[in-house]
Amino acid sequence: MTKKFIYLFKQGNAEGSSKMSNLLGGKGANLAEMSNLNIPVPPGFTISTDVCTYFMKYNKYPPGLKTQVNSAIKHIESQMQQRFGSIRNPLLVSVRSGGQISMPGMMETVLNVGLNDKTIQGLMAKTKNKKFTFDSYRRLIMMYADVVMDKSNNLKCDIRIDLEKIMSLMKKEKKLIDDYDLSGEDFNDLCLLFKNHINQKLNLQFPEDPYEQLWGSIDAVFKSWNGTRAMEYRKIEQISDNLGTGVNIQAMVFGNMGNNSATGVAFTKNPSTGENIFFGEWLPNAQGEDVVSGIRTPYPIDNSNHKQNLKKIMPDIYKELDKIQTILENHYLDMQDLEFTIQENKLWLLQTRNGKRNGPAAIKIALYFLNNKKISEKLFLDRIRYNHITELLYPTLSEKDKKMIPVAQGLPAGPGSACGQIVFDPERAKELYDKGHQIILVREETSPEDVHGMFASSGVLTARGGMTSHAALIARGWGKCCIVGCREIEINYQSKSCVINNITYRELDWLTLNGSTGYIYNKKFNLIAPNLNKNKDFLSLINICDNNKKLEIRANADSKNDAILSKSMNAKGIGLCRTEHMFFEPKRIHEVRKMILAPNLNLKQKSIDRILSFQTKDFYEILKAMSPYSVTIRLLDPPLHEFLPDKEDQIKIIAEEFNINISDVNNQISNLTESNPMLGHRGCRLGITSPEITTMQSTAILKSAYKLKNENIDCAPEIMIPLVGSIEEFINQKNIIDKVAADLNQKYNTIINYSVGAMIELPRACIIADQIAQYADFISFGTNDLTQTSFGFSRDDISTFLPQYIKKSILEHDPFVTLDIKGVGELIKIAINKARSVNQNIKIGICGEHGGDPKSIEFFNKIKFDYISCSPFRIPIAYLAAAKTNTI
Ligand code: PEP
Ligand code: MG
Repeated sequence: MTKKFIYLFKQGNAEGSSKMSNLLGGKGANLAEMSNLNIPVPPGFTISTDVCTYFMKYNKYPPGLKTQVNSAIKHIESQMQQRFGSIRNPLLVSVRSGGQISMPGMMETVLNVGLNDKTIQGLMAKTKNKKFTFDSYRRLIMMYADVVMDKSNNLKCDIRIDLEKIMSLMKKEKKLIDDYDLSGEDFNDLCLLFKNHINQKLNLQFPEDPYEQLWGSIDAVFKSWNGTRAMEYRKIEQISDNLGTGVNIQAMVFGNMGNNSATGVAFTKNPSTGENIFFGEWLPNAQGEDVVSGIRTPYPIDNSNHKQNLKKIMPDIYKELDKIQTILENHYLDMQDLEFTIQENKLWLLQTRNGKRNGPAAIKIALYFLNNKKISEKLFLDRIRYNHITELLYPTLSEKDKKMIPVAQGLPAGPGSACGQIVFDPERAKELYDKGHQIILVREETSPEDVHGMFASSGVLTARGGMTSHAALIARGWGKCCIVGCREIEINYQSKSCVINNITYRELDWLTLNGSTGYIYNKKFNLIAPNLNKNKDFLSLINICDNNKKLEIRANADSKNDAILSKSMNAKGIGLCRTEHMFFEPKRIHEVRKMILAPNLNLKQKSIDRILSFQTKDFYEILKAMSPYSVTIRLLDPPLHEFLPDKEDQIKIIAEEFNINISDVNNQISNLTESNPMLGHRGCRLGITSPEITTMQSTAILKSAYKLKNENIDCAPEIMIPLVGSIEEFINQKNIIDKVAADLNQKYNTIINYSVGAMIELPRACIIADQIAQYADFISFGTNDLTQTSFGFSRDDISTFLPQYIKKSILEHDPFVTLDIKGVGELIKIAINKARSVNQNIKIGICGEHGGDPKSIEFFNKIKFDYISCSPFRIPIAYLAAAKTNTI
């Protein structure tokens, strides 16, 4: 027996159902479901997606398909009491695509299949409507020439544009504006003109044989699965190329049979706002493509302010449609997007599917179903996608602008979108920002010295760097749009210009960045601003996530303002406060440089004392802002040379203040230069070689805690020792901290609460986690460095080879974005098991960038972390991920 490739449907009865979308595609499955619900659907059949995959593989149809299609056509003929190809009573059909996941407008459709010079007479005799008849024929010729003869044969002749021109010319000659102002005679003439032009341009005849038309259309729909548009769309939406499309063949119903006919699109809720209103548009005397293509401006279906609203013009039809939309929404328990046609006062439904919606609407709609007890909290959480939340937090591109063609693409490192004038120098960015410009800072890569320029910019674009590069990390922390590692940019700092794909851009030219996709546009777009403060839907969403998650969510925050922001975003503590970020403020950096370059201990201590007063103020403010939650403060981590002066005037001032030669300062600077700084003199190694820094920082932390205690403000400082690789290193630093605490306790005659933990960033630290856990109150995984040191990949240079690694399937994804569970994850598991085996109460967290990545969060939840910590703007995503993964 041959395999079944065809699934029939008619009102009241179907062979398929909505559960079969793998096989029938979304449209086919829903046509079957609507038929089963006894909704008026034109009879038809679906060719399964299996046929598409077969066709793609072998470039022919599976045996038996032809016979099955022929007998399915008979099914439609008997339902419609018409015959395909009959001159007296012709059946016309539509041929439409329908993938498993909806890809609106990405694949092809051919309508009115079955019309030719002979069958048109039957249509004419039946309808007695010349205008409708020949309009239908010219539509078929136009669509068929475009979709089947040109596109599916890859002729690239733009035949549709030619035919549109012919029609425009005719309208112009006759001084008409709209297509539907043309007469039946005009449409008849157009059919002839079209056929002649097709013949001349393509050297092909428009086929008269209805079956040739049918198979040409089926071919074209299957081929459109691999059309450029569809492939691009699948890439962006991460839809597999292997799914294939179904083909739906249905009896035609006509919305262009006169003023008692119409066509329209409707949503059971407003897809832009999520409001619970039946929302849609319609056009009298039109076919579906007229509404979608914008050729004519459609009217609202329900808006009493509009004369042409459907409710008023066709009240009975509106009533029936309203009833059907309620049935469908209650059946699918989700907002539906409907296509309908009214043929001579009879309503037909052509499609239902879960409607596309933007982020705010998605949350509102899901809340509607939850609050009305129609869906569970689990289903609610399933329906919220991460990018729905992202859309709430940042300015975004409009739906229209998202469809524009980008000039280049980099790695999508920072959220939202940004639009501004390009500047290549951070000083200049700041200067122009102060004058009121909107800036996009374009750099080879960024360094801590650039942060003021980054701060002044709306968006940052770098030619190098990966997802945890400096630019990415800082930008994400600030919720700033950022694209990194865009290899298509060549920057020339001297001429203040860059070249992107052969086009030169100069300072102050406009660019727009989409930090969620990595797309770069050479235009100024109007962005859509967020409004979170009073967003009740957002607050409800966080509340539901909170009730469903186990993980505690903390923030990576380095300043009072970040702490306040994080708390407002529902952070329950700070998991990483990078103290070095406080060193870069212009007033402080000079003192820090002097601390590093001081020619003797006495001068060094003087600088340290001054830094102590800055740091005490910083920690006091942060601990207070985050009260009563824990704040993990990491001792100084980066290699000292990152703080060194690199400009002659800076070096000169230091030499003068220390009363030493410039060459001595330069010698000291070159002594500190390392060839491999990421593996060099950094992390706890700094505190071991310069214990006075650890002493100063722990004094600042504990003094702040003491001050807060006196003010009756609860605080919980956690001092974290970075880049620990041996137990001896940890003990060395812990001893210094404990000694500072003991001295202060004695001085103030009190007990200051604090805890000491290790940052696990080296494979060796994972292996000796049981030793560390005997002394540590907590461990926190620095997965950025742990990934770097496990793979031996430089986190700042991975973009040089990552795209090739992904393309060649050596890596599935960027391991600095999504945790490498098989390798780095295994090390983490070993560490956790070892740590808990000796210290059951040890607190375990993660503060690398993976703390904001949903896939990685799933893993952290599974292996029972206590908390995750991420950039403030990723907190809502972390909430959602922690809840989703806990309800799987
Ligand atoms: C880490 O290494 O994961 C981390 C959080 O520290 P940093 O990014 O500051 O090196
Ligand atoms: Mg680190």
